[in-house]
Amino acid sequence: MEINIGKKNSHKIFFFKCPSCGLSYSTTLPSFIKNELPELVDISSKKLEGAFKRGNLKFYDSQGVDSIQFRKRIGKIESGTMICFGDKIEVIRGFPKIRRTLMLNPSLKDHFSDEVAVEEKMNGYNVRIALINHKITAFTRGGYICPYTTKKAPELMDLTDFFRDNPETVICGEMVGTENPYVTHYYPEVGSLGFKIFDLREKVSNHPLTVDEKFETLEKYGLPPVKLLGVFDVEDAPEKVMNIVKKLGEADREGVVMKDPEMKITPLKYTSSKAHADELEYAFRYPFEFGRSFFFSRVIREGFQAYELDESEFELKQRAKRLGESILYPMLDVIKHVSRGDVASEDLVIHVDSYDDAADFVRHLRDLGVVATLLEFEDGKAVIRRIHQSTSDRITNYLRGGLY
Ligand code: ATP
Ligand code: MG
Repeated sequence: MEINIGKKNSHKIFFFKCPSCGLSYSTTLPSFIKNELPELVDISSKKLEGAFKRGNLKFYDSQGVDSIQFRKRIGKIESGTMICFGDKIEVIRGFPKIRRTLMLNPSLKDHFSDEVAVEEKMNGYNVRIALINHKITAFTRGGYICPYTTKKAPELMDLTDFFRDNPETVICGEMVGTENPYVTHYYPEVGSLGFKIFDLREKVSNHPLTVDEKFETLEKYGLPPVKLLGVFDVEDAPEKVMNIVKKLGEADREGVVMKDPEMKITPLKYTSSKAHADELEYAFRYPFEFGRSFFFSRVIREGFQAYELDESEFELKQRAKRLGESILYPMLDVIKHVSRGDVASEDLVIHVDSYDDAADFVRHLRDLGVVATLLEFEDGKAVIRRIHQSTSDRITNYLRGGLY
């Protein structure tokens, strides 16, 4: 079935089964958005039609699944939400944004009630796994169906029993490791590729299991959880969390996500100085691919952490050095690189079964707006080159004397 995103979809006919009466219907996209979707997501048809016109609701077809993608948050429905058509309509809600605290004290006491469960925050990419049309399907943050993740997730863990018993649950987790096409980070216990689960949520409502229920369920099905680093009284939490995050940073790990054990209050995140420096170092290697707020927010985090920690002169010097080096060195490297006539690029390595799988993934990257080519494929190892065009062009221009 050939479907093009754009005007043509107005005429495409969908077939679906009504969730309440079970009867089969056929409809067009605009008519579905006007008539059926409002009830499904509890948003007025006027608002949804407006969002469709502005391109915030889009038709998306990938891996044999027809769907409507929420490109932006609409009302209380998160960006990344997917309405998937099959023999049944599935609503996979977007993963909620986690707000950040800059001052553990007093944020934690203000935000949580009695206790705080502290989980490790893994540095990889966000994945939601759910049954769509009886098939295990993996979505990345914005609601894209990723062919690589869809293939790898069931290889990394046996999901059959879990989904047989819990077909209405969405597994939310982080894909981590060095052989990771989106966010690479080395974890000694993971190596090339691994999956860590941090939430179990219900389809449609996005209702999460409590922290205890989640860890018990994962244990029952032998599925890999993120690490629970402790459950603390809210009064003690700021100091405990600060010590944990310091140690995590020393071990080159990202930070923590703090959760209400009942999951009634929204979680908060807090990250290590090492993580800020690593992100700055990466971003300054391709400085013109990122918005200015990316850099600014990481520097702000360092300022507040240094203040809250009340560091010694020596510690502060180390922080300043780490911060400065993470900005200057990568930038100088990339300027030198481009000055030699080379293009700013990075190579990603993944292992897939066939050349077609590798090509399929590169197509998926292009759908996401990434400029990428398949550089080589041999014995299942694919090297994909990602080109950072803005960085290359702008540096070239400035090197030739172009004004900033
Ligand atoms: P957003 O909050 O919108 O995802 P972001 O891309 O900046 O923004 P991060 O700063 O990485 O995200 O923080 C939130 C992400 O952390 C979650 O989306 C999730 O993918 C990841 N994460 C890792 N470990 C956990 C955990 N234990 N609990 C919840 N989320 C976790
Ligand atoms: Mg992250």
